[in-house]
Amino acid sequence: MKLNVKPIYLGTFSVGLDKKFNRINRDDPPHKASLKLSMNPFLIQFGKKNIIIDPGLGDLDQESHIPALLEGLHEHGLSNDDITDVFLSHLHFDHIGGLAHKQNGFWELTFPNATVWLSRQEWDKLKTIPQKNPVKEQFLDFVDIHADLNFVHENDKPFEGVTVRVIGGHTEFSLAWFINLGGYRLLNAGDVIGTKGHIQRKFAAKYDFDGKTSQQRRDELIAMAIDEDYIFLAFHDNEIPVFRIKEKNENNAYILQEVTEFS
Ligand SMILES: [Zn+2]
Repeated sequence: MKLNVKPIYLGTFSVGLDKKFNRINRDDPPHKASLKLSMNPFLIQFGKKNIIIDPGLGDLDQESHIPALLEGLHEHGLSNDDITDVFLSHLHFDHIGGLAHKQNGFWELTFPNATVWLSRQEWDKLKTIPQKNPVKEQFLDFVDIHADLNFVHENDKPFEGVTVRVIGGHTEFSLAWFINLGGYRLLNAGDVIGTKGHIQRKFAAKYDFDGKTSQQRRDELIAMAIDEDYIFLAFHDNEIPVFRIKEKNENNAYILQEVTEFS
């Protein structure tokens, strides 16, 4: 069976301390004291499975990211009803907001036929945090009641070819998804490896729950990816969200190669 992997580009944003996603052009620099981040939910098609990894921010910020998400699916011949599974790397709103939307004035599931796979510990933790924004509170309640939530644990296999690990680092219970389908190996490690910069530079990031653990996990996952030829799916990358590590150059830096074709 043929595998198809496509990033669904929702745009590029300047994200400052207030965590708002301010849209900028792909080539623009970010605003002062801000990060430049894109959002790329991933569509993975294999046999009867149409999987989304991290559906983006949805209707939870100043603009709706739902039209771009649906348009992206449409470009690949799919509608939201066709999505069978949603994998969540971690539960920050820029990764889960797309689970439900208010395009018609009331909350609806974006993928009414999908099973949503996520961390039980992280969901329980999120539900104990009071949300300052009532829209986020409503969103969480709606998803809790209406979505088909399926909680995963270390080394669970939602189905043949897919394994999950709890890696922590970015959030306390961040997950990594290992997908071995159609002769390819894919790895999504959420925001532990959210951009190619996470491969190319070593650092402990302030935005992480535990920056040191994040870097440790990156070292392990990079070594594994080189050994086993994993392709990275990096949600926030501005240029090449789907890439593999090709080699190390003479300065010991990793050379990355975009992957666009899955034959
Ligand atoms: Zn993120």
